[in-house]
Amino acid sequence: MEGKMQGKAQLSDSNRRIMEVDAPPRRVYQAWKGSNLFFLGGRLIFGPDVRSLVLTLCLIVTPVIFFAAAVCPQLGHEFHSQIGGWVASVAIMFTAYILVVLLLTSGRDPGIVPRNAHPPEPQDIGESSNLPDWPGGQHGSTGLPLTKDVLVNGVSVKVKYCNTCMLYRPPRCSHCSICNNCVERFDHHCPWVGQCIGKRNYRFFFMFVSSTTILCIYVFAFCWVNLRRIMDMHECRIGRALLKSPISGLLILYTFIAVWFVGGLTSFHLYLISTNQTTYENFRYHYDWKTNPYNLGVGQNFIDVLFSRIPSSKNNFRAKIKEDSATFTSSRSMGRAVLPSSGSSNGHAAKRANQS
Ligand SMILES: [Zn+2]
Ligand SMILES: [Zn+2]
Repeated sequence: MEGKMQGKAQLSDSNRRIMEVDAPPRRVYQAWKGSNLFFLGGRLIFGPDVRSLVLTLCLIVTPVIFFAAAVCPQLGHEFHSQIGGWVASVAIMFTAYILVVLLLTSGRDPGIVPRNAHPPEPQDIGESSNLPDWPGGQHGSTGLPLTKDVLVNGVSVKVKYCNTCMLYRPPRCSHCSICNNCVERFDHHCPWVGQCIGKRNYRFFFMFVSSTTILCIYVFAFCWVNLRRIMDMHECRIGRALLKSPISGLLILYTFIAVWFVGGLTSFHLYLISTNQTTYENFRYHYDWKTNPYNLGVGQNFIDVLFSRIPSSKNNFRAKIKEDSATFTSSRSMGRAVLPSSGSSNGHAAKRANQS
């Protein structure tokens, strides 16, 4: 790789200009070092496990189709009214809304912190006032301390250095091992939506999980109403009613099982939001009420997590990459090896996006 880079660096300006004219400019998403998958020319970003999203879609849409096509017409028939159409319309519109928040959860930047091309210089780190509190001997291969302390609401919080992204992670940021990116306010990587849940998509994730719970209860309730109505109209027991509408029985069973998952998840996240914790922090630090520096009180926590302004993405995946000649020759830093732990062997390590 080294030879390849030096060879490139020795190209004359005119040759380089010819190369630039010949090759269409690459975009940030085409040289992306994380494991993400991009669609629509970098407009949509997913995790590497986005295929599981198809399963999630089927698990939501299939029961709704059966509900709208089989249970709702029967409901209308038993009640001799338009109720079936109304119940089906609400279910379909609510499902469409769920699919929109699902796309907003999995198809957008969850809050990825752009990687550095070089490790930070020690003097840059030392500038902060409450720094440094270097723990003795805990220096990484770059010579930089592995952790540093920052103040959050008067509480000292340790932040770690990420060798892959070559940066000190902001508080609450963590490196997702699946997507291979540092993500702000990292909650967890959700295999069901195939994306990290972080600062920029957490509220959509919560809307998705809570809405799915409501949809489960809705379908469960009207399937039950349908069976009760059949029992009343035909003066029969539940067994015969189930024979008349087996789909209602199957959907009751399905939504009953599903609501334990999505309802449980909704309750857990309601608790996390009310205490302003992430799933990661909850598993890792076991904050109590007093030690959590982010806790602002229940009401303010809900406003902070669900209604505060979502920061714009720090990545412009469609931006064109500029060949930066400076980066060809400056792969030195403090006389040590500074290559990131992964993703640097593809020859694109010396490229940097034309955005900071
Ligand atoms: Zn990282
Ligand atoms: Zn992830």
